[in-house]
Amino acid sequence: MQEKFLRDAIGYIVGKQNEPLVDILQKDKYINEFLIAKKLNIEINQTRNILYRLTEHGIVSSTRKKDAKKGWYTYFWKIEITKSFEFLKNLLIKRIHDMNSQIKSRETKLFYICETCNVEHNEENALLNNFICNECGNVYVLKDNTKVIRDMKKELDSHERELEYLNLELGKEKAKDDHKKDLVMKKVAKEKLEERQAKYAKRKLEKQKLAGTLKKDSKKPSKKSSAKKPVKKSSQKKSSKKQSKAKTKKK
Ligand SMILES: [Zn+2]
Repeated sequence: MQEKFLRDAIGYIVGKQNEPLVDILQKDKYINEFLIAKKLNIEINQTRNILYRLTEHGIVSSTRKKDAKKGWYTYFWKIEITKSFEFLKNLLIKRIHDMNSQIKSRETKLFYICETCNVEHNEENALLNNFICNECGNVYVLKDNTKVIRDMKKELDSHERELEYLNLELGKEKAKDDHKKDLVMKKVAKEKLEERQAKYAKRKLEKQKLAGTLKKDSKKPSKKSSAKKPVKKSSQKKSSKKQSKAKTKKK
């Protein structure tokens, strides 16, 4: 069903003959435009033209790479499923709206037909022609719209069902997109947290170092502490606590 929707969207914009693009383009991987041209069996310029037209509707997106030697860009393309479905959804909504107004018109207005030429006119135009065909001179007959309306309602029904399916698929795609976004956000948040933690740890270490040098400056280093070098973090803390305790005792 997904593939049918994508074919419909692409076919509507760039013609049925280019629907095979659906089989060439991928969702998660960019495809080289020269490969696309080769597979479609058309010129590269024609291929680009088609892809640009699809870009205007968000159906495809691209990235480019510069050829270091030749200095020109090669484009790589992928299909945008969610955007394609949204495009088709709007198209279907419009078709349903049009079909509804056509049905309403058929149900409420009169239409006349020349049975020889098989040409149809609405009431105003038929009246202007005095209900006589200006091609063959035959008199118009009132058109029976029963079959037309029945066919239109069938078409309307199929559009509505298609829209229902499409909404389901669109919902699934959006959920996938949200999940991806969520994963990216979580990753970014995790990286930021780690960055903050690293900064905090670094600052703490710098403070400790600074505190250590200040003490050295204010106090003459005792023979004991200089002998203890290098000092571990934990032992440094303990010793400083002991020192402060000793100070208060002296007082
Ligand atoms: Zn006629």
